[in-house]
Amino acid sequence: MPQSKSTTSNDAGNEIRPVDVQTTASQSGATSAEGSSKSSGPQSKSGSGGLFSKMRGALSKTRQALNTDIRDLFKAEGRLVDDKFLKELFSRLIRTDMGVASAEAIRDDVAQRLRARVVSLEEVLETITEQTQSMLIQESTGLQYAESGPTVILVVGVNGSGKTTSIGKLAHHLHQSGQKVVLGAGDTFRAAAVEQLTVWAGRIGCEIVTGKPEADPASVAYQTVDRALSIDADVAIIDTAGRLQTQTNLMQQLEKIRRVVEKKIDTAPHEVLLVLDATAGQNAISQARGFSDAAGCTGIVLAKLDGSAKGGVILPIREQFQLPVKFVGLGEGIDDIAAFDAAAFAKALFAP
Ligand code: GDP
Ligand code: MG
Repeated sequence: MPQSKSTTSNDAGNEIRPVDVQTTASQSGATSAEGSSKSSGPQSKSGSGGLFSKMRGALSKTRQALNTDIRDLFKAEGRLVDDKFLKELFSRLIRTDMGVASAEAIRDDVAQRLRARVVSLEEVLETITEQTQSMLIQESTGLQYAESGPTVILVVGVNGSGKTTSIGKLAHHLHQSGQKVVLGAGDTFRAAAVEQLTVWAGRIGCEIVTGKPEADPASVAYQTVDRALSIDADVAIIDTAGRLQTQTNLMQQLEKIRRVVEKKIDTAPHEVLLVLDATAGQNAISQARGFSDAAGCTGIVLAKLDGSAKGGVILPIREQFQLPVKFVGLGEGIDDIAAFDAAAFAKALFAP
């Protein structure tokens, strides 16, 4: 890696500081740190076996809150669907942070299909599940890959949302599926962030490009793409700093990273994934608003679903940002990520 040790200048005129490229583990044998990935990798079709139960487990807090609440509406054998019932149902739905518009849509659908009937809890849940699924259906779910050469993925979001952890999990799954991955430690403001990503690279057995402390994040991004090209990597995933979205500095920095990456590969970045913290509930929406325009996001990773009773927040996120939810974070372990699937999600959310 000799070229990474000298100070050079890229096309955009940004100074490239010395960058360390580490190969953190051998290509073979060192990849199963936490046990090998199950058949339910993030790209696998969901609804089946392992992934569904994992999603269901992660959504248990939200589901329990919802189901307990909704179950309360059913005193005896059934319940008449009238205005009173619909009003009570609405107030239960809203507690999952799904937002007024989504709760209204679900309530209206229940009214339209079941009004004036005496229904069981199961019937209502089935109706709600179907409606939720139709609200969550989206066109694209998988990663958009470059047609040729490395696919470059930028990962953005506020501090603590789960960026670095999500990168580690995603990189692991791509690596397990046979793709050559390079990580870029673009959050150079916090030494701990670089260390954290370096630990992930070690567990996975992939390369990582790191800058000196306080290095220009754009130079790290540039060198990461450069490295990906020179070793013919399939995917480069670049971590970024996540200060508050109100800081114009941050947005300018993200724009600079984009420009620098684009100079290297004109179709890059191929994905800009916005990581949102599901435990933040409705606050995740203001986080998304701060990033989605400036950073040119192409998809969402909804992290920490497992710790949240507010999984319903996915509905207003889908509705307001028109961005596909690509992955969901289901825990802190190396396998705790799944490709988003509307049907599996809706079912895991409401199935009794
Ligand atoms: P960043 O600042 O955006 O890079 O966030 P980190 O990746 O450092 O994550 C912040 C904290 O959230 C860490 O303690 C992670 O272990 C934790 N975390 C990230 N993703 C998940 C998840 O899907 N589930 C759970 N339970 N914790 C997570
Ligand atoms: Mg981080």
